[in-house]
Amino acid sequence: MQAVQVSTELIDKYGLAGPRYTSYPSALHFADDFQDDQFLQDLKAQKDPISVYIHLPFCRTMCWFCGCNKIVTRKQDKADRYLDYLAKEMLLWRAQLTDVKVGQIHFGGGTPNFLNPQQIDRLNALLRCYLPLTPDVEISVELSPDVLTEDQVWAFSRLGAKRASIGIQDTSPIVQEAVNRPQPMECNINAVRWLREAGFTSINVDLIYGLPHQDRESFKQTIQDVLELEPDRFALFNYAHVPWFKPTQKVFASDIFPNPIAKLDIFQDSRETLEAAGYTFIGLDHFAKHEDELAKAWNNGKLQRDFQGYSVTESKAILGIGLSSVSQSPKAYRQNHKELEDYEAALDAGQLPLAKGLALTVDDGIRRTVINRLMCQLKLDFSDISDELGIDFAEYFDTSLVDMQELVTDGFVEMTDTGIAVTELGRFFLRNIAMQFDAYRERQAGRCSQTL
Ligand code: SF4
Repeated sequence: MQAVQVSTELIDKYGLAGPRYTSYPSALHFADDFQDDQFLQDLKAQKDPISVYIHLPFCRTMCWFCGCNKIVTRKQDKADRYLDYLAKEMLLWRAQLTDVKVGQIHFGGGTPNFLNPQQIDRLNALLRCYLPLTPDVEISVELSPDVLTEDQVWAFSRLGAKRASIGIQDTSPIVQEAVNRPQPMECNINAVRWLREAGFTSINVDLIYGLPHQDRESFKQTIQDVLELEPDRFALFNYAHVPWFKPTQKVFASDIFPNPIAKLDIFQDSRETLEAAGYTFIGLDHFAKHEDELAKAWNNGKLQRDFQGYSVTESKAILGIGLSSVSQSPKAYRQNHKELEDYEAALDAGQLPLAKGLALTVDDGIRRTVINRLMCQLKLDFSDISDELGIDFAEYFDTSLVDMQELVTDGFVEMTDTGIAVTELGRFFLRNIAMQFDAYRERQAGRCSQTL
């Protein structure tokens, strides 16, 4: 794959704020007065096993770049208390899941391996006691190698986890110091060895480009270092600089970031190296070995996208449990309280800890399908999607298609009477292309991270 040339004019024109489209509408539009009825109705109607996301929010230190919902603490007993409340929440959900099974569980954070092995074993017992799991439930976990121990890996293995995603971000000591995340390669090497020995069958590595002091040469070294670990997948995320939303990011001086051209160069270098090493470039920012099921899903048009990014999971409903967790169903999103005090108070009152949400309109549902299809398949067949959604696509999106002409002229999209397809150049501007179908784009301007 030859490097694509991206001009400064295009970067200036399209370097806008825009959603990552892990959901549509984005969480910015969730409302405080949302009632749970629609979500509960959708949940109970599920015929196939659902997915569950469980948020474990604690971290020992703060990484300055972080955009997650987390609680930084050294007090291990906070996790004991949190598990008490997770148990209360699971018990409330169990009452709603009388005819529904759980086929997948993902633990995210925060740092799930903030929990010590005894706490992970207790979490295992809670799951088995309170959630209606399928016998072959698939379990995955996000891990931070800098604080990971071998005993924790075995505890997650006892819990049934077979997939892990490890956060590395960048291996340069200069970058690590700037973002307050020292993580010698030894930690990463140990993490991967322990996971393989414990029988984990899939390891993903998270990297971030666009961090302070990164440049092409330093990030080439990061990619080489991580390739030595032979992960099954990579996620190569564009750093989201949103200091108005995540104030810890204000510690960064504005002149220490790579500029948009340097970021695109870093991404293209990485893509070239990873493709040469046997990884398939997937969607916006993922890579997987050719034989990995994520790469197969991409090639078969079965790729999915949800709050955790790209996946092969086909669940129509994802139930979020724990602080700040988001749930999604065919017609609604809901989010738990983000503050621990509010989360606990709701559960002490015997209520689900609902903070806000959104019941999708028919229009939201249509646009969600269209945007998701673009993000996962990079193309739209007007006839197929018209049949699927019960609309005349060209008529429904007449304004979007007129606006799309400019993207055709700029070389991002090829459009015919039957459909549109994103070009290689357009993959760098995928979020901008999806924005053409976003009815909320004016309202969310300036509240999202930069697309480039
Ligand atoms: S360990 Fe992960 S969740 Fe915690 S502060 Fe760092 S990046 Fe954020």
